[in-house]
Amino acid sequence: MTDNKVAPYGQTGFFDDVCAFFDRAAQFTDHPKGLLDQIKACNSVYRFRFPIRKGNSVEVIDAWRVEHSHHMSPTKGGIRYSEMVNEDEVMALAALMTYKCAIVNVPFGGAKGGIKINPKNYSLAELENITRRYTVELIKKNFIGPAIDVPAPDYGSGEREMSWIADTYYTMNPGQLDAMGCVTGKPLALHGINGRREATGRGVAIATRECMSFAEDMAALGLTPGLEGKRIIVQGLGNVGYHSAKFLAEFGAIIVGLCEYEGAIYNPDGLDVDAVVAHRKETGTVLGFAGATKEFANSAEGLEQECDVLVPAALENQITINNIHNIKAKVIAEGANGPTSPEAGKIFTERGGIIIPDMYCNAGGVTVSYFEWLKNLYHVAFGRMDKRYEEKANLELVNLIEKMTGASLTWDQKKLVVKGPSELELVNSGLEESMVRAYHDIREIKVQNPKIEDLRTAAFVGSINKVAISYMNMGIWP
Ligand code: NAD
Repeated sequence: MTDNKVAPYGQTGFFDDVCAFFDRAAQFTDHPKGLLDQIKACNSVYRFRFPIRKGNSVEVIDAWRVEHSHHMSPTKGGIRYSEMVNEDEVMALAALMTYKCAIVNVPFGGAKGGIKINPKNYSLAELENITRRYTVELIKKNFIGPAIDVPAPDYGSGEREMSWIADTYYTMNPGQLDAMGCVTGKPLALHGINGRREATGRGVAIATRECMSFAEDMAALGLTPGLEGKRIIVQGLGNVGYHSAKFLAEFGAIIVGLCEYEGAIYNPDGLDVDAVVAHRKETGTVLGFAGATKEFANSAEGLEQECDVLVPAALENQITINNIHNIKAKVIAEGANGPTSPEAGKIFTERGGIIIPDMYCNAGGVTVSYFEWLKNLYHVAFGRMDKRYEEKANLELVNLIEKMTGASLTWDQKKLVVKGPSELELVNSGLEESMVRAYHDIREIKVQNPKIEDLRTAAFVGSINKVAISYMNMGIWP
């Protein structure tokens, strides 16, 4: 295998690790081997190279798109822009997407893309050129489209890249009515949806809150139930990390530590996340933040400080056999994909810790991507048709109650009661329902089968069963 195919993750490759998790969970199902093999395999792996002009020279870019499972269409998953990206990693992340979508009942198969570059080394024009060319390569091979495969942001990419993809796709498919559904995570002004930007982090916060709401589970960890006052360390101040920290603080937790690649900061009484972000924007580093009582030039040390919950929200393979014995957290909420190596996860679980697994914990992004895709197919924003209708009906009801009871509300009180939902409120409500319900489903699978040791295995069992049912309904398996 070439360097591009091998990913050092845990003791084996990342995809092997995902398959090992799958195999462990498959023991708790009774599906035939052939069906399990089909669910586990990556259906299509497209590896390609294309040239771009950089200054006076030409550079060849390595890129991938992997569609892991076609049990549902379209397939769905982000595009990672990273010089570390490789085929094994993209396959693993595509597989995780299949299981993730199944957990939160999003009707997509899993996919993932990768472009092997460090975006920091390219100008805006070069990044646009790379993104548009990547999209053209996907179009040529039928690896993108609202009913085929729908990319989204991932590490190193965001709304800007998604808007270039949408524009390129539309340019090459003029008149296609649903063209804007070819990619999600688009800017609001370009057929995006309210709430998508913060959805993954909001989902991480809801998942953590839900996990910590079970008194008996928290008692086993020596913690009181609820997020209020819980000390949290977050790794990564990007899209997922920043929003996770923001919403966890909003839900009453105290953000005691923040770790970025250049270093980490800590304060047992709490850090103001926005102030840290502003400081980093100004100085280029989290170090030197006036509100911190400790700082670490070696960012990894930041993960090992006193806390109740650790939220790794940067990259995979951050909690390993090398540092798990120093991790003080009792709960790990996996904002990133694959941040805990299997060996480290086993040790953590054996000592009684709870890992809220990535495939569930960071599923908020794909959930709201699903809502964005639906909005693109409907061609109408959520709430547009019924907001005012609901307000009017509610007002009539309140007026009637006032008349019948003699009670009288102020206009401000009335506004609160009669208000119809905005798109953002509907999106957040759908996200919360999806995350809360999925946590209860996963926990119930674990409770019902005491041999299942952790939530990750339980989540895999639930996903395998759902994907298996799809295949059976297609009539492929009896
Ligand atoms: P991002 O590029 O917005 O942010 C990543 C952050 O991590 C950056 O600020 C970066 O500087 C920091 N970082 C890099 N190396 C680090 C290190 N060694 N220590 C500390 N910080 C480090 O990416 P993102 O979209 O927030 O994605 C982060 C993770 O979440 C990835 O694993 C991604 O696959 C996963 N994820 C993202 C989404 C999404 O909607 N964006 C959805 C699901 C999962």
